[in-house]
Amino acid sequence: MSSRRLEKTRGVCLGAMVVFMLTGCPPHDRVLFVNPNSTGQIGILLDGNVDGSTKNDKSYVTSSSDHVDPGTVVAASHNEVIAFQQERPVAILDSVSWTTGNDSVTATFGNEMGVGFHVWLLQGPADDRRDQAIAACIKLDEIWENERMGTQITSFVIDDKTSDPARTAFLDYTCAEASSLRSQIGHDSSVINIYYVNRVDFGSGFSTGNGVWCSNDRIIVMGSTASDHLAAHEIGHAFELDHVNDLTTNFDTTNVMHNASNNREYLTEGQTFRAHFEPNSVINTTYNLRPGLITRNCGNLSETAGNKCPAIQKRIWADGTFPPN
Ligand SMILES: [Zn+2]
Repeated sequence: MSSRRLEKTRGVCLGAMVVFMLTGCPPHDRVLFVNPNSTGQIGILLDGNVDGSTKNDKSYVTSSSDHVDPGTVVAASHNEVIAFQQERPVAILDSVSWTTGNDSVTATFGNEMGVGFHVWLLQGPADDRRDQAIAACIKLDEIWENERMGTQITSFVIDDKTSDPARTAFLDYTCAEASSLRSQIGHDSSVINIYYVNRVDFGSGFSTGNGVWCSNDRIIVMGSTASDHLAAHEIGHAFELDHVNDLTTNFDTTNVMHNASNNREYLTEGQTFRAHFEPNSVINTTYNLRPGLITRNCGNLSETAGNKCPAIQKRIWADGTFPPN
């Protein structure tokens, strides 16, 4: 090739390269993670302008890679990344500076949070109540693991009070008795306390199958035939989650926060977000596991995504027959 021709070709190729760089190659944005769990997908909810349109809680999951390629993201009026993974607390980047160039943003996961319980057995036989409490402990930890709550049970103290004469006043229980139950049977203010009595009335009559979260006194009381998943439900109340049974488009009895169910299993990402970010959740009060971190008043059952919180029904992963949304 003559030197003149080479020069010309160079010019053409270089010109093509310049054009390619300017218009042909979109910015390559990337979301990276610090301290992820070694297995299991990471899912994110992203706020920003993605490929030319404003998105609120656009969801992505990692595939075989350890990061998310969200497309071309530039700043919108609200810019955020919320991340979820098994055995990791919900992580947030609340003000991401998306640019028109290549952005690499990093979300940092904390370690899984340890949560303790103190269980008091009032209704005998003690062995039966202990088995009931242990089944509830196992079920709760299973739900937390599967649903990416980011909490694990690190202590579960069981106190046998079935021979304590003071117990008889509480075997048929309503929340009006919460304060005297705490003072007469016992209470550990550093953890959630769960009392196993015979029958519970939360407003519609006594039943051995009932359980209740007494919000003023911050205790859970369970009937003598109450299911393991009902205990997970009452603990959901302690995590500041409300009943979802009126939201029939997006929830059924398989959700942990359905009020009357035989098959509670799932929590949405909208719910696990609230469990961590609602200021009155026991994660932020009793256990104080997120000191100094962001809290948000979400409006517990809001079905509309806002800048502060995802919609209550927001799912990155399917919950049974309910697909990601
Ligand atoms: Zn309830």
